[in-house]
Amino acid sequence: MSSEDTTLLKRRIRQLSNGDKNNVNGKAVLYVASRDLRVHDNHALLAAQQHAIAQKLPLIVAFIAYDFRVGRRSREHMSFLLDGLEEFSTKLKEHNISYIFEIGSPRKCVESLIIEAKPSAVYFDFNPLRGPRALAAQIANLATRPVYQVDTHNLVPVWVTSEKLEYAARTIRSKIHHHMTQFLVEPAKLQKHPHSSDTQSRIFSENEVKKLLNKYPKNNTDISRFVAGEDAAHEALNTFVSERLSGYATNRNDPSKDHLSSMSPYLHYGFISSLRVALTVCAAASNDSSLQVDVDTLIEEMIVRKELSDNWCFYNKDYDSLIGAPEWAQRTLNKHVSDDREFLYTLEQFEKAETHDEAWNAAQRELTRTGKMHGYMRMYWAKKILEWSESPEEALKILLYLNDFYHLDGGDPNGYVGILWSIAGVHDRPWGERAVYGTIRSMVYSGLKRKFDIKKYIEANNYEKS
Ligand code: FAD
Repeated sequence: MSSEDTTLLKRRIRQLSNGDKNNVNGKAVLYVASRDLRVHDNHALLAAQQHAIAQKLPLIVAFIAYDFRVGRRSREHMSFLLDGLEEFSTKLKEHNISYIFEIGSPRKCVESLIIEAKPSAVYFDFNPLRGPRALAAQIANLATRPVYQVDTHNLVPVWVTSEKLEYAARTIRSKIHHHMTQFLVEPAKLQKHPHSSDTQSRIFSENEVKKLLNKYPKNNTDISRFVAGEDAAHEALNTFVSERLSGYATNRNDPSKDHLSSMSPYLHYGFISSLRVALTVCAAASNDSSLQVDVDTLIEEMIVRKELSDNWCFYNKDYDSLIGAPEWAQRTLNKHVSDDREFLYTLEQFEKAETHDEAWNAAQRELTRTGKMHGYMRMYWAKKILEWSESPEEALKILLYLNDFYHLDGGDPNGYVGILWSIAGVHDRPWGERAVYGTIRSMVYSGLKRKFDIKKYIEANNYEKS
C-alpha cells in the first residue's frame, strides 16, 4: 500500500480504545464484520490486513448472527444475508483469511472469540445504528487490546464530513463535495494473506441455518430478481450502467418506468460499496459526457442523501423516534393531532392494500410482491399513512414495521430518515398548513397524475391481492 493510500485509510479509522499497552503478544488480528460484507473495496478489511501484516499475524474475520430475530426483518431478508455471507466466506478463504460464523449474543461471541484467538487488535466496520455501535463500545470497554472502527460504507467517512448533526441536504452537500475528490479513489487490493491462522474457519451447518431462519417470519415477497452477494452486486451495477444510467436523471422520478439503479439492497448489505458505484459511473461519464447529468443525479442520491442519513443516525440518538424530529415539526404535528381524518385504516388494512386510493394500494402491492417499492411512491406511501392513521406515533409504528418487514433494503439509516422526512419534517422545512399534516410537506393524488402516467403504474401493480 502506498503511503498516500495509508494516510487516506487512516482518516476512515476511529480508535475506540487504546487497549492494554502490555498486550503485545497477540496471535491474530480480528475484524468483526457486520455492515460491509465484501472482500473488494472494504477498508475495514484492508485496515485489519495492514495491521496484521505489520505484526506478521494471521487475519480472522467474524460475523455474528443473533440467535433471536433482530428488528422487524423477515426470513427472506435473513436468507439473502446468509447467501451473501456464504460467498464472502469463500472469497476470504481464497485470500487465506479465516472466517468464523457464530450464532448467539454478539457480545458474548466476540468476547469468547477474543479469548480463543487472542487478537492483538479488533476492527469493526462502521454502522451508526444502536446495536452495532453498542457492541463496538462494549468491546472497546474491555480495554484489553486496541479496538478500531472503520467507515467503509460512506464515500466520505461520517466523522470527516461533519462533526455535528446536519439540518438538511443543503448544509451537508458542500461538505461532502469538498472531501469527495480526495476519497473518490481506487482502494488498495486485498492481498492473499501471508500468515495462516490456527483458528479454524467455522461456517454454518445447514441445520443451524434452518433453525436461525425459522426464527424469522416469512413476508412472501418474491425477491428472486436480486441475487445475494458481491459478484451479483457488481453484475447489477454493470447492468444499470449499460442499460439505465443514460436517462436516469430524467426518468428516476417516474414510477411507471423501470429506470432506477436498484442498488439499494446491495448497498444495504454491503455487498458493494457506494465508492465502487461512484467510481464506475464516473468512469462511464468520462467516456461519454452526455451521462454527466445522470451521474450527478446519482451522486446526489447515493452519496449526499445517503450519507446525510448516516449523519442523522450517528449524531441523533432518537433517530427513529418523533422526539428526534425538529421542534417545528413536533409542534405542528401536535397542534393537528386531533384533526378529523377523512380516512382511517388499521395496520392490517394497510398491509393488505385495502385503502380507497388505487395508487397507494398499487405501491403497497408492489412492495409486498417484489420487496421493493419505487422511491417516488415510497414518499407518497409514507405521507398517506400519516394522513390516514390515528396519530403520528401510530403512523410511525406502522411505517417502521411495513418498511423493515417488506423492503429488502429496510432496517437502514435511509429508512429512518426517509420515514421521518415524510411524516416529521426531518431535513425538510415547513410548507403551507393543511389538516393533519400541519406544515409538514404533503403529497396528493392529483400531483402524481400531473407528474407521470399513474394509470400505467397502477395497472402494472394490479395483480391478484395476496
Ligand atoms: P435510486 O433512486 O437508484 O438511488 C440510488 C441510491 O441512492 C439508492 O440505492 C440509495 O442508496 C440512495 N438513495 C436514493 N434515494 C435516497 C433517499 N431519498 N435518501 C437516501 N438515500 C437515497 N432507502 C434504503 O436504502 N433503505 C430504506 O429502508 C429506505 N426507506 C425509505 C423509506 C421512505 C418512507 C422513503 C421516502 C425513502 C426510503 N429510502 C430507503 C430511500 C429511497 O427510497 C431508496 O434508497 C431507493 O428507493 C432505493 O432504490 P434504488 O436503489 O433503485 O434507488
